Parts: sequence; C-alpha cells; structure tokens
Amino acid sequence: MTGAAPGEGNAAWFARARRVIPGGVDSPVRAFTAVGGTPYTVVRGVGPYVWDVDGRRYIDMVQSYGALILGHAHPVVEGALSAALGAGTSFGAPTPGEVLLAEAITERVVGCDQVRLVSSGTEAVMSALRVARGYTGRDRVVKFDGCYHGHADALLAGGGSGVATLGLPGSAGVPTSAVADTVVVPYNVVPELDDSVACVVVEPVAANMGLVPPAPGFLSGLRRACDEHGALLVFDEVITGFRLGPGGAAARYEVTPDLWCFGKVIGGGLPVGAFGGPAEVLAVLAPAGPVYQAGTLSGNPLSTAAGRAVLEHMTTDAYDELEARVGRFAPALEGALRAVGLPARVPAVGPLVGLFLSDTDVVDHASARLAVEAGCYPAFFGAMLARGVALAPGAYEVLFPGMAHDDAVLEAVVELAGEAATEVVAAGAPTR
Ligand SMILES: *Cc1c(COP(=O)(O)O)cnc(C)c1O
Repeated sequence: MTGAAPGEGNAAWFARARRVIPGGVDSPVRAFTAVGGTPYTVVRGVGPYVWDVDGRRYIDMVQSYGALILGHAHPVVEGALSAALGAGTSFGAPTPGEVLLAEAITERVVGCDQVRLVSSGTEAVMSALRVARGYTGRDRVVKFDGCYHGHADALLAGGGSGVATLGLPGSAGVPTSAVADTVVVPYNVVPELDDSVACVVVEPVAANMGLVPPAPGFLSGLRRACDEHGALLVFDEVITGFRLGPGGAAARYEVTPDLWCFGKVIGGGLPVGAFGGPAEVLAVLAPAGPVYQAGTLSGNPLSTAAGRAVLEHMTTDAYDELEARVGRFAPALEGALRAVGLPARVPAVGPLVGLFLSDTDVVDHASARLAVEAGCYPAFFGAMLARGVALAPGAYEVLFPGMAHDDAVLEAVVELAGEAATEVVAAGAPTR
C-alpha cells in the first residue's frame, strides 16, 4: 500500500511536538500508535475539510471526536464567538450566556430540569457520580465494559473477558482503592443489582468500542433494575446528546435516566461539559447541598455562546436531514467495501456511524475486540488517508458525519473507500 506519506511539514511539526509534549499529543487518541505513521498536523478546517501544515486537504470524518456537528468554522459559531469576544472571556460571576445555554439544554431534554456546566465530559461524568453517591448515600458504581466515561480515576476500570470484574484499574496511576467500588459488567446485559449500588452509568449507544447500539430492552431493563434497587440511572450522553436529536438517546429510546452527562456538541468545538437531571436530585449540590463541585472556567462565555449557536441551528429538520443522509451513506459504504471483497459492518444509529472490517456480530466489548482483531483497520486507515480521507487513527472510534458532509462529500468518501479497500484486499487482507 502507498501509506499515508505525510509531507515534510507534518514530520517536522510532530518531531517538535514530541520534544515538548509527551508522545507529541495532548490526548492519546490523536497519536497514530494503533495505525502507524506520523499524524497530520492541522492548521485549519472549513466545513467537512481540514488542511495540514503541508497544505494537503482531507475530508474529515473525525470532527474533533464528535465535538462538531456543523463542521469546521461554521458561520453561526464564528458569528456567536465574534459577538462574545469583545466582552471579555471569563468572569467568575454569573453570566447570561450560561443561563441561556442551560435553558437551551433543559428545554430540549425532557426530565432534565437543571444542568450545571463544567469544562469537559470527564468532569461531567465525574461530577454526576459524586451527585449519585451523595444523593443515595451509597458508594458502588456499575459501569459497562467498553464504555468510556472520561478519565476520572473511578471510571478508569477495565473489565476482562465478559465477566463482571471488581476493581481492576484500567490505567497505571489509578490506585486499586479508587476503583474498589466500580463494578464492570458486559454491555447489553442487564446486570443484577443490589442495594449497595449508587448508580449505573452507561453510554446509551456505545460509541467508544466502535458503534454498538443498545439491544432491545437493555436500556428499559436498566431503568427497571435501578428503580427496583433505589439506584440512579446515569446516561452518559457526551456523544449522543444533541447528536441523535434534540432529546438525545433518552428521547430516541424513550428511557428517562435520573442524571444526564453532556459534552462535545454542546460546546460547538470549545471546552464544555454539563450534567443535569431533576431539580430534586441536583439539590444535593453545593451551594444548596453537601456535595461539592466547582470550576473556575465553568460556564465560560465563549463556550456557552458557541454551544447555544449550535443547538439553535440544529432544528428537528436539520437532524432529520442529517439522519437521512447518513441513512444513505452507511449502507453505501458497507456495500462498497464488501463489493471488493473486504468484510465490513457499518452500523448506524441516527448520524453515528461505526466501521468494523469484519463479519463478526458486535454486541459488546468482547465481540468488538474480536472484530477489530480480525480486521485490517490500520491498512484501511492508511489507504484512506493517502486518498485524502481522515478517519480516526483507531479502530474503536466512530465516524462523525455532520451537517457539513453533504451527499456529494459522503459519496466521495464511499468511492475512495472502495479504492482503498481494493488496495487493502490486493495486499492480502483477511477475508472474514
Ligand atoms: C468523550 C467522552 C467523554 C469525555 O469527554 P472529554 O470532554 O473528553 O473529557 C465522556 N463520555 C463519553 C461517552 C465520551 O465519548
């Protein structure tokens, strides 16, 4: 295969980056460790495209890992930011902007009466757990193997081989004590709970082990199990929130959690997160209640301006349009790969698209791992990058087509994917 062949500029910038930034990246998912080669260093983006330091253009399917739904540098976001800019960047006092974003979120998400704004998805989930523990007076947290909830210690617990695992740190530097109350269970199976469980936290559509939709009855089963045992149900909608529709996964699957976590889309590409739920539950938060949570930059005026512009732009018509486009794109992509003999599954939920280069049925982390290990993602990734299509440099990520990816752009991706797959098959890709 021809490989990514990054230009001189990319190699030079990445060498400089590695001298002053560990691994050359500020988030490990950006490294090319899993796919090989040198990352492209981005200087700008417009709509569905990004350009690297060598002036090469890519169709960008990464879209800041889902922080963008309108594409890069969208006029409504840039307009909102310019309008906000002249008035200062952070105050440490209440601002109208944070009220307006909180109103925009709570108006759209039924049952989510209040939100507190934070600066990342990690903070949102970490804080939601604290609320759940403070509210219930219980310590134990149930999470699902393969779901990602940010890098807070208590949630960096990994499960093994589809068996419920208690307290195995998923990272060096996380003490066993920090995950001693974290129980990891397989996705898509309603776990047995008991009265020690403060909350069950779940990605209602799993989008960090490729794309794994919830099995019928899974989310409603979680709701029932939580109710039976007095545990709170926490939906981590950092990816699904305001992407699957204005009401996110809760509305789509008609299951109402006790707490929501948001991030990504609600900041329009600026740092933000939020957690929320019924006022009665959030009453435990300081200053009214005993659960402490805080943030110097929380509710930042620039982030809230950008986020609000995005939510206002994403009407139900816009969501319908995006979903319709992706409804054409996903089967076309799968068809183009299979047509040249590359096994592929391209699941879609609303505008979220997964890509497994294997014929394995994926329902949880164990089967996702099987699919990834059987596949040839690194070769396909390289062949796509060489053709000017940027996928995420890891097989467990999803594709984020957004409003800027019109039919013509998505058709181009399908066509280039067919060429890339042909090259990968010719080089001897696995056929199952
Ligand atoms: C990205 C993500 C997070 C963490 O958000 P950050 O802003 O990266 O801290 C949490 N949960 C899910 C489901 C995510 O995809």
